[in-house]
Parts: sequence; structure tokens; C-alpha cells
Amino acid sequence: MIWTGLLILIILVSAYLRLPLLLLSLLLAAGLVALNIFSDVGSSQKILLWILFAAVFVPLNLKPVRLNLFSRAIYRVMKKVMPTISQTEQEALDAGDVWWEAELFSGKPDFSFLQNLPKPELSDAEQAFLDGPVEEFCEMLDDWQITHVDYDLSPEAWQFAKDNGLFALIIPEQYDGKDYSAYCHSQVVMKIGSRSGSAAVTVMVPNSLGPGKLLMTYGTEEQKDYYLPRLAKGIDIPCFGLTGPDAGSDAGAMPDTGVVCYGSYEGKENVLGIRLNWAKRYITLAPVATLLGIAFKLKDPEHLLSEQEDRGITLALIKRETKGVEVGRRHFPANHAFMNGPIRGKDVFVPLDSIIGGVDYVGKGWAMLMECLGDGRAISLPALGTAAGKMAAKYTGGYSRIRQQFHTPIGYFEGVEEALTEIAGQTYVMDASRSLVAVALDSGAVPSVISAIVKLQVMERMRGVINHAMDIHGGHGICMGPHNHLCRAYQLTPVGITVEGANILTRTMIIFGQGAMRSHPYLLKEVQAVHNKNQKQGIKDFDNALFAHLGFIISNIVRSFWLGLSFAKFVNTPGDKDTSRYYQQLVRMSSAFALLSDICFGVLGGSLKRREKISGRLADALSNMYVISAVLKHYENQGSHKQDLILVKWACEDALFNVQTALKGIMKNLPVPFVGALCNFIIFPLTKPYQRPDDRTGHKVARLTLSSNETLDRLSAGVYKSNNKDNATGRIAHALQFVLKTNELQHKLRDAYKQGRLLSRNRDAYIEAKEKNIITDGEYELLVETDEAIQNAIKVDEFSFSGWKIETP
Ligand SMILES: Cc1cc2nc3c(=O)[nH]c(=O)nc-3n(C[C@H](O)[C@H](O)[C@H](O)COP(=O)(O)OP(=O)(O)OC[C@H]3O[C@@H](n4cnc5c(N)ncnc54)[C@H](O)[C@@H]3O)c2cc1C
Repeated sequence: MIWTGLLILIILVSAYLRLPLLLLSLLLAAGLVALNIFSDVGSSQKILLWILFAAVFVPLNLKPVRLNLFSRAIYRVMKKVMPTISQTEQEALDAGDVWWEAELFSGKPDFSFLQNLPKPELSDAEQAFLDGPVEEFCEMLDDWQITHVDYDLSPEAWQFAKDNGLFALIIPEQYDGKDYSAYCHSQVVMKIGSRSGSAAVTVMVPNSLGPGKLLMTYGTEEQKDYYLPRLAKGIDIPCFGLTGPDAGSDAGAMPDTGVVCYGSYEGKENVLGIRLNWAKRYITLAPVATLLGIAFKLKDPEHLLSEQEDRGITLALIKRETKGVEVGRRHFPANHAFMNGPIRGKDVFVPLDSIIGGVDYVGKGWAMLMECLGDGRAISLPALGTAAGKMAAKYTGGYSRIRQQFHTPIGYFEGVEEALTEIAGQTYVMDASRSLVAVALDSGAVPSVISAIVKLQVMERMRGVINHAMDIHGGHGICMGPHNHLCRAYQLTPVGITVEGANILTRTMIIFGQGAMRSHPYLLKEVQAVHNKNQKQGIKDFDNALFAHLGFIISNIVRSFWLGLSFAKFVNTPGDKDTSRYYQQLVRMSSAFALLSDICFGVLGGSLKRREKISGRLADALSNMYVISAVLKHYENQGSHKQDLILVKWACEDALFNVQTALKGIMKNLPVPFVGALCNFIIFPLTKPYQRPDDRTGHKVARLTLSSNETLDRLSAGVYKSNNKDNATGRIAHALQFVLKTNELQHKLRDAYKQGRLLSRNRDAYIEAKEKNIITDGEYELLVETDEAIQNAIKVDEFSFSGWKIETP
């Protein structure tokens, strides 16, 4: 028994540690030798053990043997059943880089990767830009005027943005741009977004998917020299049209075409170019754009460029004034006033040098877009979502403290507290998530899967946070007007969720669909090997990948079970006594996720693509593991302030619970219930280990939002904070200061009332308290001033009857 146990232990420990197969074989052989020498096991049993060992480990270690015995046959089957990868899928796979998600996929994340990442920091010039022009721009913005009266930014705001480089954040200095970091870009959008969603979206587009990014990455020197300085100075306003009435999520199905032909252009005859026909909609900045980026399918029926007729998706730049272009009409997106509208083109002729990157980039449009979409996904939208969270944490928290019902600040009621907890906790997650991805971009990586995760997670969490904030504000959030800071953010939520690929699709198709192939250590290698035209090499590569993959699965089974049994307590991780257990749970969930991903591939095969409920849950698990990593890194980046630990605890416990829910959901819904039950036993041997954060934790998190404290300052850092005690947010901050200052006085009045020394607890009591010398004259003045500040902060706008009418010129 002891000897059998020893041999099994060697196998289990080797699998847990992922020792190479050869080393495991040598260790087992050594174990058998020891058994032969020291044990009294019968010789027939010894021989049987050696035969077993030789039967399994000799062929496994001799590649030619295992290749001919197993791999070749499996390869043939796979070649028949494995679906081919379409060109669009291949381009999506090739776009961007694999980043931290590959470690999460590995089942054994190497935390040195995370630890070695620098802090996101602003240079002096970037900080000055935020404190100077961005602050000034925010002060110029009157969101009510923009969204309800003018339906546009003021001419002064437009000009200020152009003159001060707000459209030039990413353009290199040599082209008169700012060349700021991704983190700075995120801070700028976040700050503007906290003041006006319409202004933030206006600034976002030229700095993300506008033609600027495409030109910088792929443009010819002539294109860059001409257009980039014009875009940087706002001489040209860009837009980019991909989506059309018949091609939304499935943008690759666009019916828009360009046909290579000769035509006349700007007075010149016989110019080789493209005749374009397109219909696009929902295009941001289109109504005012002077430079249109258009995606279309290029055809060359006369073979003027090559023998190939269908050349694929191609991108071109078209000047607004070109004949046949129809631009200028507007959509009205969710009561916001950023420019958005359709663009159509009928027989628009442009020369070949209008193609972004020139003829070398004909047909590469999809790959170019995939590569460049990352900025919008990773920077602009998450910055907008985080801005909403930070504003809610600061001002809904403040409002909950100043607004009283039943003689109690509403934030003290448990029902409201629950909503405040979500606001603060999720805001911490959003801030951490967007900061970490900015670091990736600043290091030069294009993390396509992580970008999609951050967009999805931040925008979904924004939706929850804004809903909670609206609930807390009640009528104060609903009644619109210049003093309402919340309702436009509420209306903006679906915009952020839909643009750059709607979230349902991002969750169910992109994150795991792309992530699995790209980030799995062996899957892509196996697929590539099967599709390798050189069959001999293909079988060899397949054999290597397959056996490494099998070892990986066995290791993840052992790891998941042991980590489940031991609650991952013995795993060596970074972090201190407060955070290391979250790192440990991340290791545990990473093993479980890696195992379950492989089980899903095995059980569902190619149909996993269509089983979006399963792949969506896998995406949830991966996303929430990213969230935990981001939160831990954020805490350390911010200086590991112990006061912030409660947010870390809440966020990690919430995310771990989400991972568990996702994994349990997958196991419950696998088509072979036995497999699901077995996985459940391996991954969660001691039932459900994670619970949602408890009420005590939630209480502490919520309380952070009800007063002034350093943690709240860090949580709400980077948004526009008005000092004007009469505007939408400034009045809440102003009233809060008074409320906090008069807290003790209110207690004094309450005690006097309870003792029967005062007849009421209402405002009338102030005079009575002064007359009875319960408070001084100065204290009375302070209470009256506080009351005025509160009344000012809780009031909502009122309109005259005629105010409702929209004047038509
Ligand atoms: C305000 C605004 C600004 C925009 N700006 C631009 C711009 O500047 N340039 C540009 O080119 N586009 C822009 N868009 C377009 C945007 O990218 C699209 O709206 C988005 O890609 C979704 O397309 P759709 O609205 O046609 O929805 P549809 O494609 O009709 O999708 C409807 C729903 O079906 C879901 N769905 C579709 N296919 C699947 C699937 N296979 N699996 C699961 N779910 C699926 C989607 O997730 C969505 O929930 C903008 C959109 C808006 C609203």
C-alpha cells in the first residue's frame, strides 16, 4: 500500500508542478527501483509494475512511436471534423496581442508578469494638460444647454477643443499632435465624460476609431504628412463608417462596394481609382465630418489591379465635398447631442491613393479595423463608464448623506446602503480595470481580448451603478433640467454598451471565442497543425501540441482538485497578509477555468461556437479573473492604503462569486450531465467556497461614500469637481460640507428633543433651541446656512408651459 501510494504521489506531485514527461518518467523509474530493492512486494507484482510502466511511459517518451501509434490517427480524424477557419476569423485571431489573459488561461498564472508592470502615471506635461486645457474645457461645457437647447457643443467649445489639441491626443508630435499616453487619453475622456457625455463622445472619436489611428498605423507617408496635421489642428473633422442598415454586428457582411475603374477626379481625366456606393448609419461625428473613413468591399472586375476580382474589405478616406457624397443629416442618440448620423455615397469616384495605406493595403481592411478598434474598446468607453461610477460614488454618496427622510439621512437605511455599496465597489473595479489595460497599451501591446473584457465589464457595471444612483436620487434624478447631473448619464448607458460592438456579442462571441484560440497554450497550435498544408510537419506539430495539451489537462485536474481541497492555502503568491488569499484564489480559479475550457472543447467541439450561453459564461469567468488581477494591482499601484482594503475585499469577493457562478452554470448545462457532475466534484470538492460579500463588508463600503475621506478621494479622483455651489454637482458637495460640519449640532438637537427640552425636531426647532440656549447664536446661523444649502441641493428644475416647446426656426 505504502509503495503504491508513493508511486501515485510521484505522479500527482509531478502533474501539479507540471514537471516534464521525461522527468516524471525518471522519477517513477527511480521509485520502481527503490521498490525493487527495499520492498517485500512479490516478484510477479514487481514485474507487472515494470511492464505497466514500460507500456505507458516508453511510447510516450519516444516521439516516433507515439506519433505512429496515436497522433497520426487522431490527426486524420481531426482533419475531417475540425472546421476551417474563415478569413475573417483568421484576421480577428491575428489582430492584437496575447497579454495577461494567457496567464489566466494557463491554470498557473505567473504573477511576476503582473508585478513587473509599471504604475499608470502621467508625465508633467500630461498632468498640466489635464489641469489646464481639459479643466477649462470642462468649465465651458453646459450639458443642459448642449443636449436640450443647442443640440450641439457651443461654437466656442468646438474651437477650444480644436485649438488645444483635444482631437490630437494620440497623434505624434511630428504631426503637431500631443502624442500622449493611453493612460492620459483615458484620464482626459474620463474627466470630460464626468461633465458632459456628448462632449466626451465628440472627443473620443478622433482619438480612437477616427481615421487618425488608422492613418498613424497604416497610412502612406503622403497620407500622414497631409492629413495628420490637419486632424491634429481640427482643420479636418473625421468620422469612420463601418456600420450600415444591413451590417451591424455582422459588419463583415456589408453590402457597400467599390469598383476599380478609370474616372475623372478634380479636373483630371483617366485617373485610376474606385467608384464607391455605400450606405452607412449611426456614424459618430458624420454630420460635421470633413474627412470620411469608409469600409467597403473592393471589386476589380476588369483586373486593373490584379487577376483577383473580389479583393475584400478595404478602407478609404473620402473628402466631404467629393461628388456623390451625402452627409449632414442627424440621428438623435438617446437624448445626447454629439454628432451622429448617416452617410451615403452614390457613384463616388476617388483615386487609388485614397485607400488607407495605398494599394498595399487593399483587402486588409478587416484586419486593420480589428487592430485599431482596441483603443475605443480599451480606452474611450471604459473611461466614460468609470466617469459615471466616480460621479455616482461622490455625488450620490453625498446626496444620500444630505437627503433626510424619517429624520435620517437616506444613506443610513440598509436598502439605500445596499445600492451605495454596489456603486462604490463597482466603481473601484471599473477604475482598476481601465487603469490596467491602459498600462498594456502604453507598453506597446494591443491586448484585443482584454480590451473586449474591459469594455464589456466596465459598461455593464456602469449600467448597474447608474441604475442604483437613479434609484437613490428618486425624483431628483428623474426630473431633468440644468440641475440634474445624472439622467443624461443614465440615457448614455445603452450607447456605451452598443457602440464598438454590442455587449451581448462581445460577451458571447468575442471574449472566449477569440480568447480561447489566442490565449490557450495549445489549442491554436493544434488547429494550425491540422490546417498545415505540409502534412508531415503538420503531424509532427500536432503530436507535440496534443501531448503537451494532454499533460496540461491532467495537471489541471490534479491542481483543481488539490487547490479545491486545500482552499489554495499552500500556494505561494505575491501580496501581503490581506491580499495574498485573493491571489491564491485566483490561482485556484485559473486552474478550474483552464480545465473547464478544455472539457467544453472536448464535449462540445465545434458546436461551442453556437453554444453562446456556455461561451458567455466562460467569458464571465475569464473577465472576473481579470477584474481580480486588476483590483489587486490597482491597490498596490495606489500605495496599498489599508483604508482601501475594504474595497479590495468587496471587489475580490464579488468577482470570485461571479467566477464560481459562471463555472457552476457551465457544469450544470453541459450536455453530458455526468461530466458536469464530475467536474463539479473536482473543482468544488467542498461545495461552494465563495459567497457574495457579507452585509458588514457592504456597510463599510457604503459608509465611505457618506463622508469626506481619503479613500473616497482616491475613488473619485480624476473627474471634474465643480466649486460652484449652485450647479448640478457643486451644490451637493457644498451642502455635504455643511451637513458634516453640523453633525454634532444635530445630535445635540435630537437629544434635547428626546429629553423633552425641544418641542420639535424640524427646522422650527432651531429658533426654539437658540431661545432656550441649547445652541449659540453662531450655531443657529450655521444650522440655517446648512438648511439653505440642503434646500438648494435637493431642489429640481421647474419649467413654464412654454418651456416644453421646442422652437423650430
Ligand atoms: C450612438 C452610436 C454611435 C455609433 N458610432 C459608430 C461609428 O462611428 N462608426 C460605425 O461604424 N458604427 C457606429 N455605431 C454602430 C455600432 O457599432 C453598432 O450599433 C453595433 O455594432 C451594433 O449593430 P446594430 O446596432 O446594427 O445591432 P445589431 O447588429 O442589429 O444587433 C442587435 C443585437 O443582436 C446581438 N447580436 C447580433 N449578432 C449576434 C450573435 N452572433 N450572437 C449574439 N448576439 C448577437 C447584438 O449583440 C445586439 O444586442 C454606432 C452606434 C451607435 C448607437
